[in-house]
Amino acid sequence: MGIWSSVIIRKARSRTTRLKTFFSRGHSPTARSDDRQGSMSPSLDFDSCLFEAVAAASEAGDEIKAAWFVERDVEYKGECDLVTATDKKCEDLIFRRLQAAFPEHDFVGEESVAAANGVLPTIGDAPTWFVDPLDGTTNFVHGYPFSCVSIGLTVHKIPVLGVVLNPITGETFAAVQGRGATLNGERISVSSVTDLNKSLVATEIGVGRDAETVDAIMSRVRVCVETCRSLRASGSCAMNMCGVAAGRLDAFFEIGFGGPWDCVGAAVIVREAGGLVMDPHGGAFQITGRRVLCGNPQVATKLAKVLAAVPDGPLEPHAPAR
Ligand code: MG
Ligand code: MG
Repeated sequence: MGIWSSVIIRKARSRTTRLKTFFSRGHSPTARSDDRQGSMSPSLDFDSCLFEAVAAASEAGDEIKAAWFVERDVEYKGECDLVTATDKKCEDLIFRRLQAAFPEHDFVGEESVAAANGVLPTIGDAPTWFVDPLDGTTNFVHGYPFSCVSIGLTVHKIPVLGVVLNPITGETFAAVQGRGATLNGERISVSSVTDLNKSLVATEIGVGRDAETVDAIMSRVRVCVETCRSLRASGSCAMNMCGVAAGRLDAFFEIGFGGPWDCVGAAVIVREAGGLVMDPHGGAFQITGRRVLCGNPQVATKLAKVLAAVPDGPLEPHAPAR
């Protein structure tokens, strides 16, 4: 047996061990989902979906980890919007695995949409997978360890399953609607902070650099600095949302991120951890809206009132009519 065969088999074994550990802790493959999505789609096997999503995220995570200190071949989707060969390779391998397991499902990936000139396909009622193979590409390029694989599943356009995996910190967040949320197999829940002035909030600076968008972002930063304990901007929408689910952050918001692949999986994780997911101005969260606010219920509700007073920039996605 050559050295490469040995390496490949060892990697496969370690991944299998990780998956066995993951499912033995909090996501038993024999547990049944009793949520209403299950009754809406009686043929959907959430156990298989979760298993395959974790396995696909682990495979992609291994690729990201292997490239972490060597990958520097950067392309530009926009002035500040980076993409690497690793993003594309990871999307391909995630799609290959999920499409083999669920050939009847629909698939939407960040890099596939980018390759179609940014045109998002029509999202239907069928089970639909949303994949961000590498959320936090700028962090990846700079070696800042706040990047992840983000996988989400919707049924009837409603997020029902999420897996977010940071290969550098070794953290896997996961949730199925109705079953709670976990971090590496252990249950997690949102924080219990109630006062805005005691809350730690995160947002993102995004990739828009026109003056009006920058002004709108800075106005939101200002109101947060004035009303919250402090503000963070670490470079990954999905990781920030999982930070809320784990109680590390009390709220997170972003307007104008890339697409539903950034937030569909994490939205399930936040909700199953006891948090709210909504529009930053307080309306209903829409998976294709490119706008999100999540947090523990008290802080999220209070922060939405503060943010609703700040006008969106003209080039930002606007709040849905209420
Ligand atoms: Mg992303
Ligand atoms: Mg990405």
